[in-house]
Amino acid sequence: MDPSRRLFLAGTGSAAILAGCQKAPGFAPRSSRRVEQILHGIPTSDGDGVRLHRVIGQPRLRNLDPFLLLDRFHSDDPDAYIRGFPDHPHRGFETVTVMLEGRMRHRDSRGNDGVIGGGGAQWMTAGRGIIHSEMPEQEQGLMSGYQLWVNLPASEKMCPQFYQDLGREQLAQGTLTPAGSRLSVIAGAVDGLVGPVRERPTEPLLFTAVLEDDRPAVIDTPEGHTAFVFVGSGDVEIGPDATPVREGAIALLGPGHRLEVRAPTQRSEILVAAGKPLREPIARYGPFVMNTEAEIRQAFADYRAGVLDRT
Ligand code: MN
Repeated sequence: MDPSRRLFLAGTGSAAILAGCQKAPGFAPRSSRRVEQILHGIPTSDGDGVRLHRVIGQPRLRNLDPFLLLDRFHSDDPDAYIRGFPDHPHRGFETVTVMLEGRMRHRDSRGNDGVIGGGGAQWMTAGRGIIHSEMPEQEQGLMSGYQLWVNLPASEKMCPQFYQDLGREQLAQGTLTPAGSRLSVIAGAVDGLVGPVRERPTEPLLFTAVLEDDRPAVIDTPEGHTAFVFVGSGDVEIGPDATPVREGAIALLGPGHRLEVRAPTQRSEILVAAGKPLREPIARYGPFVMNTEAEIRQAFADYRAGVLDRT
């Protein structure tokens, strides 16, 4: 058997979590997104013993179309991260690494090699296939960040591999009005700040924010997109009902386009994502996410034959 990660995530998920949530017309300002569900990540480990919290991709939230997985890693204990994620494959989707603190080195079977440092990100389109490792470039200190998996439509699952390694200075940095909150935009646009990630089929919006002001920040998100807020630290209130969401929780947002979020009591850090749902069948086995079981079998066959990443 191969050393691939995430094999225990076998099976297909349900994207029904956001279905049937349209509010009656006139019930409330339709354009404001409300919190529809709050979930906590579950502690688990992956790779070679890296301890993390799985937020999307856990039994209660198999996926959140178009998002397939969200892992939160945050530890200053080297034992929790030092052995990293040795060589493992991916096919059929995109992996996004967001580093808040620490350094991680990526190496892959296509000859790419790079370090993601604190405040930076990497957007990797695995497409038809990649075999890579993700290893800490530090022996001590805090390592904190996220990994998010974004699905690809059937027409792009076998597309060529592509990387965007984005240092902190390449992300779009700014502040939100009226709140004095700092933003770092990876993909999509917020308040005129445009993230550097190239155009993607799911038209993603992805940013981190540090909220340091108890006035609400109002953020425009694309209507019709699936959207969530994950609270990395502190606590926030979201939406017209000021629904409280605490550290370590994900808030799944209902329809609308306006997102109101504030940090009523303390400096708080959030990750916000929105993406266009694909509404396609999902066949998922560990590091491969395709549309059919036959395509999953082909991915394993290609991997065993050593041609997973060949164009
Ligand atoms: Mn990986």
